Amino acid sequence: MADEEHSTPLISRQEAKAQGLKRYFTGKPCKHGHVAERLVLDGNCLGCARISAKKGSANYRKNRPEKVNAWLYEKSEEDRRAFWADQARKQRAKFPEKHKQYGKKHYERNKSELLARNKIWVQSNKDKLNAYYRDYFENKYISIFQ
Ligand SMILES: [Zn+2]
Repeated sequence: MADEEHSTPLISRQEAKAQGLKRYFTGKPCKHGHVAERLVLDGNCLGCARISAKKGSANYRKNRPEKVNAWLYEKSEEDRRAFWADQARKQRAKFPEKHKQYGKKHYERNKSELLARNKIWVQSNKDKLNAYYRDYFENKYISIFQ
């Protein structure tokens, strides 16, 4: 037990309630052996509350991973990205029509602009593209025959 819990003065639940306190401390162990403060509200020991909160959140994470993002921050950048890519994939699988229509509409609406932009980009990046494809095929070739 932490020191703060033992430094709490002894006070009965009734007394604590009368004083408007949220916690009380009898100095007696709970049924699980915690000598800790208890909540005036329900008489539950804080030691027990802490343990059940820990268990609860562990269960919550296990059962509903998509609802809890906190664990993501313990992961590497790569894992996080994979997670979000997976989420996006699931969303698309769930609403395929919506995404198809959106993509089509977006394309139709911006068709000429997109094509023009693409053309310009290809022309101004011809050398880069050629180098990229050369690299790509050379690497592929090398990796196959090495
Ligand atoms: Zn307890």
